[in-house]
Amino acid sequence: MRIDVLTLFPEMFEGVFGASILGKARDKGIVGLNAVNFRDYANNKHNTVDDYPYGGGGGMVLKPEPLFAAVEALMPEGGEKPRVILLCPQGDPYTQKKAEELSAQEHLIFVCGHYEGYDERIRQHLVTDEISLGDYVLTGGELPAMVMIDSIVRLLPGVLGNETSAVTDSFSTGLLEHPHYTRPAVFRGWEVPEVLLSGHHANVEVWRRRQSILRTLERRPELLENVELTKKERLWLEEQMKLRQQQDPQ
Ligand code: SAM
Repeated sequence: MRIDVLTLFPEMFEGVFGASILGKARDKGIVGLNAVNFRDYANNKHNTVDDYPYGGGGGMVLKPEPLFAAVEALMPEGGEKPRVILLCPQGDPYTQKKAEELSAQEHLIFVCGHYEGYDERIRQHLVTDEISLGDYVLTGGELPAMVMIDSIVRLLPGVLGNETSAVTDSFSTGLLEHPHYTRPAVFRGWEVPEVLLSGHHANVEVWRRRQSILRTLERRPELLENVELTKKERLWLEEQMKLRQQQDPQ
């Protein structure tokens, strides 16, 4: 996979692209990561990338020319067109499902905004996706781009040491992940659930699956609406819900 990021602050990506899982994926040649300063594509004497908004008002607006020129320069000749992703608080909320979808692409271009906003023609005619990291406003699109790139690259085959670890992650299964324990078996009097010490693989799997369902019920019950459960799991879940109701009728 190849990932290009258009930003006014390429230096922000140096540490992130070179460290941990992203750094290893890059070293293994699984992903090419490239931060490009779109100021280099400005077509004016002072390399200006922003301008005052038509109609007045505060804040500066990113001009269309440098971003169109930068994206066009990064487009491969022939072949599949890359997805061009605009980071924007008004975009579609980012989810694990979107990360999975984007991890199947060959080439992604991220566009990081700054200032008050983008010229609307960038949204209308240049990008393929608009993504928001959440209902809050950040200074720029760099941090959201880093978050997205991390979540996408870790899904690429060969990136995580243990191939199954991304598969059981929260949201990949539709559920939140089960709790984890490691040594010691007793810490300050708090014991690890017995089943995990039993060495009985099938029982451990049942326990994990049920804990996963329970945790989702407790923390994100709305996710359960879209999860396929076996008949046995559904009955068990109904029992758990009844128990909860009895314990806390509110
Ligand atoms: N005036 C804009 C608005 O109200 O929609 C906000 C602009 S914000 C100060 C500058 C840039 O930060 C945006 O263009 C975008 O690239 C990025 N940004 C801010 N919040 C974001 C979020 N929640 N998700 C994704 N990108 C965000």
